[in-house]
Parts: sequence; C-alpha cells; structure tokens
Amino acid sequence: MSKFWSDVVREIEPYVPGEQPKIAGLIKLNTNESPYPPSPEVAKTIDRDAVDQLRLYPDPNASELSQALADYYQLDVGQVFVGNGSDEVLAQLFMAFLQGRGTVLYPDISYSFYPVYCQLFGVPAKTIPLREDFSLALADYSTEAAGIIFPNPNAPTGMGVALDEIEQLLKARPDTLVVVDEAYIDFGGESAASLVSRYDNVLVVQTFSKSRALAGMRVGFALGQRSLIEGLERVKNSFNSYPLDRLAQRAATAAIQDDDYFKASCAKVVATRDRMTSRLEALGFTVLPSQANFIFAKPPAAVSAETLAAQLREHKILVRYFNRERISDYLRITVGTDEQIDTLLAVVESLL
Ligand code: PMP
Repeated sequence: MSKFWSDVVREIEPYVPGEQPKIAGLIKLNTNESPYPPSPEVAKTIDRDAVDQLRLYPDPNASELSQALADYYQLDVGQVFVGNGSDEVLAQLFMAFLQGRGTVLYPDISYSFYPVYCQLFGVPAKTIPLREDFSLALADYSTEAAGIIFPNPNAPTGMGVALDEIEQLLKARPDTLVVVDEAYIDFGGESAASLVSRYDNVLVVQTFSKSRALAGMRVGFALGQRSLIEGLERVKNSFNSYPLDRLAQRAATAAIQDDDYFKASCAKVVATRDRMTSRLEALGFTVLPSQANFIFAKPPAAVSAETLAAQLREHKILVRYFNRERISDYLRITVGTDEQIDTLLAVVESLL
C-alpha cells in the first residue's frame, strides 16, 4: 500500500512556468516579459546604501511602496496590499477569501494558475467557456459562487473586458468576490482600480512583471477596500510577514514614480504590437484583437501553429504554443522590440 503522502504528492499538479532558457542570443517572445529594461531610476536606487541595509529586515508593510501605489491610483494606503509577485497575491486571496467558502468561477480559456490554486486550496471550480469569438462575456457568470476571477485583458487571448461590464457584475453580485487580474492592463485595457472606492466586492490585482519590467524582482499588488486588504494582511502575517525584500521595495517604488518612462515603454509596446498585427494579417494570420503585450494568432491554413513554433525555435525565436482544445491552432507571441519583431516577421515570411 502506498503511503498517503505519496498519493497527496501525485494529486498536486503544479503550474508549469514558461521556458526560461539559459542560451544567449535567443529572441525570447514566450513569457510576456518587457523587451525594455526597467526605469533607469531602478538601477540608481540599488546603491551602496541599499546593499548595506540588507543586514536589516525589510519593512514588513512595504510602507513607502504602498504609499507610492496609493498616490498613483488615488487611493488610501489602507486600500493597497503588496506581495511577492501577483501569483503570490492571488494565492493569498484564495487563502483569505475563497478557501472553504464555495465555488470559484473562471473562464475557459484563461490563466492556468487558477485551476492550480483551486486544486491546491481545495476550492471547487466551475469554468465558464469563452464565446465563439473568444470574447469573455461577464453576463455568462450567473452561477452562484463565492468568487469570480478573470484576467483583464484575458490571457492568452489578449482580449479585454469593458469596465462597464465589470461594474454591472459588481452590482449584480454584491456577495461574490470579483477578482480582476490586471497583469496586462497597462497596454490598452481599462483598469477597474477606479471602481475600488465604490464597490466592496472587488479586488484588482496587478504586477510589476510586465509593463514595469521587473519580472525578476517579483512584485505584485492588490487594490481593494480596507476590509479586503485587512483580510490579505492577516493571511500575510500568518504566513510570511516579510514578503518583499528591501531591494524589491526600493526598485518597485522607483519604477512606479517614473511615470514618463513607464508611459513611453508601454506606448512603444503598443505601437509594435499594432504594426506586428497588421503584418501578420497581411501574411494570412488571424490575429485576435489584443489589448496586451502579446498577440494570439492563428497561422494561415498551410502551416500548423505547432510546426511554426518548432521552426521558429530552430531560428532561435521562442514563442508559446498551447496544445489545448480550441487553441491548439494558435501561437501566443510576446511583443518584443521593433528589431526583434522584424526578425520574427522575416523568419515567419520565409517559412510560409
Ligand atoms: N496573472 C496573469 C494573467 C499572468 O499571465 C501572470 C504572468 N504569468 C500573472 C498573473 C503572474 O505574474 P507575476 O506573478 O509575475 O506578478
């Protein structure tokens, strides 16, 4: 008879992150990171003094960063919670508000961490299919539930949900916690941060990993009314009171305060995305309307997405191919620099 813990281990199906290859010279368009470095202010703040202070524990409340975020989103500091990447913030909100409380609804197709957390925390899940055109219609989320979670824009489709649809949902479901995962919001979506002060059933989760180019530092945050933030704080303090290290707190504060750099790099990504979309469409691809820093595209009939992804890899270009029902003909391609995208387009053209 097998030991019960072996069974438990086998039952856990962890999330598999995108490939982070060690080989230099690859054009990495597979995990939706920023193609640009973080704000130059980030490098300036990681100075000798910051290093000397590493002997001290970090501020457990990340007060400076929380205040900078509150200022940025015009909220009260008590409406901000920071964590070690938005994946961790999502785990904490599952622990605080969803575990043991009922069903969680999320879209099928969507971010593959949601089923992992449902399984990990023993939360019953119900998936709501995307519409035929891959749009995420919140009117379809009518089942009784403790929570509803979805990314806006959705991943891997890149398609956005309108703010008034989110507001309708918040009004219609006052007893359901609605989590808007805004990992990709800064590339053209409408943030639900503006709804936080008016609705006590919404948590907006964002990350510094994409638009602020700090994926390697692991900084995420949630915005919500005080009672929700307090719930998250309680989980944090029962678990890891020092989620963000000193360097991450400094770096993220410097990044959020450099708005000009942030806006300029988002604008560059959006311009490249739109140019890349037109070129791929001209080559016969079907490209879903993206509001994110990636596109989701189906190659012309002559070539399969799987083959194209393998061929691009031989040309040292990494893109993401999903081997799943409904989306196995699609590639998800992160928006790189103009130069990277020109190389991608030239290689794609030569392969068709
Ligand atoms: N939500 C979505 C929809 C994502 O795609 C990602 C990135 N994989 C995350 C959350 C997590 O981002 P991070 O943990 O780097 O903040």
